[in-house]
Amino acid sequence: MNNNTYTEKKMAMEQMLRELMGEANAREQLQIETFADALEQIQSAADRDFAVIRLDQKAKLARELRTALHKIEEGTYGVCEECEEAIAVRRLDALPFAKLCVHCQQKAESHVSHRGSETLFEEAA
Ligand SMILES: [Zn+2]
Repeated sequence: MNNNTYTEKKMAMEQMLRELMGEANAREQLQIETFADALEQIQSAADRDFAVIRLDQKAKLARELRTALHKIEEGTYGVCEECEEAIAVRRLDALPFAKLCVHCQQKAESHVSHRGSETLFEEAA
């Protein structure tokens, strides 16, 4: 992998992180909203629950991004944590914070049942 690829991935992930952090601030505002009538309140409570779940997934994603950015600095980015082979660039394009190569990921998925954001992102890879 050349330096341009690193720089490109670093910038893309920093951008993702900024967007995630920007949206995370919305959590505070969700709690101080007031509502005109009961029906609206029920609907908003459901929306809020959903938003909190999404924020938790985002927090997790933010952690993944920070780990990947740290690896770029360390020079270990793009290396599979399991077999230490290089992760395919195409996979990193789809999933810039991937920790495992496709083979090790498939092995891991046959043991672990996935849920939430992980599944969402792995499917893109
Ligand atoms: Zn591997």
